[in-house]
Amino acid sequence: MFGRSLFAVFAVLAVTTACGGGQESYASIVDKAKNDKKLVIGVKADQPGLGLRTPDGSFAGFDIEVATYVAGQLGVEAKDITFKETVSANREAFIEQGQVDMVVATYSITDARKQKVSFAGPYFVAGQDLLVRADDAALTGPETLNGKKLCSVAGSTPAQKVKTEYANEVQLQEERTYSSCVDRVLGGQLDALTTDNVILAGYAAQHGGKLKVVGKPFSTEKYGIGLKKDDTAGRKAVNDALEKMFSDGSWTKALQASVGASGFALPQAPQLERY
Ligand code: GLU
Repeated sequence: MFGRSLFAVFAVLAVTTACGGGQESYASIVDKAKNDKKLVIGVKADQPGLGLRTPDGSFAGFDIEVATYVAGQLGVEAKDITFKETVSANREAFIEQGQVDMVVATYSITDARKQKVSFAGPYFVAGQDLLVRADDAALTGPETLNGKKLCSVAGSTPAQKVKTEYANEVQLQEERTYSSCVDRVLGGQLDALTTDNVILAGYAAQHGGKLKVVGKPFSTEKYGIGLKKDDTAGRKAVNDALEKMFSDGSWTKALQASVGASGFALPQAPQLERY
């Protein structure tokens, strides 16, 4: 009797551990997609053209299109995707903690990030640039930032670059999101916002005539899809999906539809860097 109830207790414990309190944890996003037919995807919510929460609570932009296509290739329909807002500083943690199954959020592939997560892609290549008020003739590039107040976002590669390369000469203000930087530049409290040119183009278009992108990119930002560090099968499957998106015309169509309106010069699809 005792033996049997003890067995029952262990059985229950084993099941709850495996399911992590109701949610089964899978070794690969491929298994999760196949078995659950659902995915949680981390995206930005305040970047027009890329990842933006719309008034009805849904999400729109190029990253959303890429995420939806890739999920479809993994066997998950658009209606079964839950988009979860990420900010630059919590993307690695969200992947490591399993709060999201993947991140598609203007997320540059870097060696430092590869210590914690892995990347499929790149699916887009951007470059760091500056956004300033339209009537500002003095700020023409990163070398003109001396004594200026510059905004970027904590946990982002542009903020990191400013800290290591220009920290002594500029006053860097780190916000949680780029949209709060935009408000502060518009309001005159800060002089410029630095991040990827494609993100800045979206803000410039959103605030027509009030802001301009300087247009001299000074870094290479390869956008990857962030996955669990050891999910080799997932990386392969997501890269295969991206390859298909590039070759069947969906990539160009999605980019045109989401980023085209900002006037940003649309590039060709990049080379995947499988590893
Ligand atoms: N691509 C850069 C990064 O991953 C800047 C954009 C962002 O913060 O999302 O940090």
